[in-house]
Amino acid sequence: SSGPDLTSGARIAERARKVVPGGVNSGQRSVPGLADLVVTATSGARFRTADGREFTDFHSAFGPPLLGHNDPDVARATAEAGTTLGHMGVGVTEGEVELAEQLTELIPSVEKVLLTSTGSEATFHALRVSRAATGRRLVVKFQGCYHGWHDSVSLNVISAPEKVGGHDPISTGILPEVLDATLVLPFNDSEAVRRTFAAHGQDIAAVIVEPVPHNVGALLPYQEFLTTLREETAKAGSVLVFDEVITGFRHALGGWQQLSGVTPDLTTLGKAIANGAPVGAIGGRADLMDLFSTRPGAPAFFAGTYNGHPSVVAAALATLRKLREEPVHEHVYRLGARVRAGLDSLYTRLGVPAVVTGHGSVFVTYFMPGDAPRTYDDLLANDAALFVGYRRRLLDHGLFELPLNLKRSHISYAHTDADVDRLLEGTEAAVQAVLAE
Ligand code: PMP
Repeated sequence: SSGPDLTSGARIAERARKVVPGGVNSGQRSVPGLADLVVTATSGARFRTADGREFTDFHSAFGPPLLGHNDPDVARATAEAGTTLGHMGVGVTEGEVELAEQLTELIPSVEKVLLTSTGSEATFHALRVSRAATGRRLVVKFQGCYHGWHDSVSLNVISAPEKVGGHDPISTGILPEVLDATLVLPFNDSEAVRRTFAAHGQDIAAVIVEPVPHNVGALLPYQEFLTTLREETAKAGSVLVFDEVITGFRHALGGWQQLSGVTPDLTTLGKAIANGAPVGAIGGRADLMDLFSTRPGAPAFFAGTYNGHPSVVAAALATLRKLREEPVHEHVYRLGARVRAGLDSLYTRLGVPAVVTGHGSVFVTYFMPGDAPRTYDDLLANDAALFVGYRRRLLDHGLFELPLNLKRSHISYAHTDADVDRLLEGTEAAVQAVLAE
């Protein structure tokens, strides 16, 4: 219907803008410079667009496809469930039980677990049940952490420098009393945690934290910070929630809590559990989980039409089987280390001040001098123009890292050494092109 000079991607995107606000279905999918990007096929580490272009994908949909896009084993299990078992919404299915048993076995904090369809629902319920259990009002979150779109956590994710330290909601339409009930503290600042607990400990229902704040790339936690969170919450009778929606399964089958040895009271999960099928989970101490209304007479209401959908559960079980039986973590950790080491020597050679960091399969380069950032404020030194600029140039080389400031990139089981080689070569050319502009 549009002019003949438009590419097919541009035509579809134009149709979208007429009927979908902003033309996309989630807040960070509208990316400057990528208005015409319409993905038509994915496979392993690659995707194809409506304009016939092929890319190697290091964005990985913000994290779910740890095995690669449309992993054949997961796809087969999902399709099989789709043809034999529809969603009934009554009682329980054996797959749900099997999945819950595996999650309780794998994740240190998880004694009982409930399935949701998204990570946001999991973090929402973590805070609701914390308030139900403690009868308290306040929750603590940290600057730079993202826990989904609901009101209590919708503030101070990526904040402009002048907003750091204040309340910076990511949306309007939130009741001020809800925002007032969330305290935002700097990540990795144990002293701030101790001060806050000294002043408000008896009013704090929960502390929620991404143990590695990957929503701003990668801030690696001080071990001492995580143990401080554990000690202060335990002392005050507050609930400690690890939001492992990104770190869970990706960094280890038992999540960051397995790697750090710090066990929270509640854990929220999502993304990599089902390699891309819509799933979330909340698990933790049995006494807290038993407060959910899935148990007769319990006070904290919990529901969801699609919770435990058989196709999603089948995807999760197939994903877990592969993560347990194949050297997935070994592979993605090895390639992740190769990427980080390769990028590090590249920037040294080019004389570009850069900090290459991340963990395991996750990598990110901040363009600034110094050591790996540990606090959100450290990230304010990042050269956002170069961060976004080289990623736009990477597109010319068929390589895709999301061209948005502070976004992390991911390696999957489907990536190969050759993909890493091409990424390193393409990055060198892309960075040099931006510096020559
Ligand atoms: N917690 C974390 C740490 C996340 O990264 C995200 C999603 N990016 C969420 C929660 C929310 O998950 P969902 O988008 O599935 O609602």
